[in-house]
Amino acid sequence: MSSVPPACPRCRTGEVLAVLRLPSTWTNASGRPVRGHGEVLLCARCDAGDPLVTYFAVHGTARTEHAELLARLLHQWLGRARPQTPDDDALRAETEAWHRGEL
Ligand SMILES: [Zn+2]
Repeated sequence: MSSVPPACPRCRTGEVLAVLRLPSTWTNASGRPVRGHGEVLLCARCDAGDPLVTYFAVHGTARTEHAELLARLLHQWLGRARPQTPDDDALRAETEAWHRGEL
């Protein structure tokens, strides 16, 4: 389970800069707990305009001398990326994976 998606699953062309995996447990429609994880991707294309994407666009890679700035940008991104309603996002991810035949 260490494979990294080669391209963004949303636009299928963008470069995935970061993947946030959110372990989650939610209750499905029949009331049974379901364990899984939701993934939030930082895509160079879908998330263009995000300061974190801008950073990578400018610098190409994470630089140690920018650790503090990167930490701040990452933190801000996590704040935005973290689903407001984890259940919905997890379910949506599950549904999409199911439609792709991955489950
Ligand atoms: Zn994308």
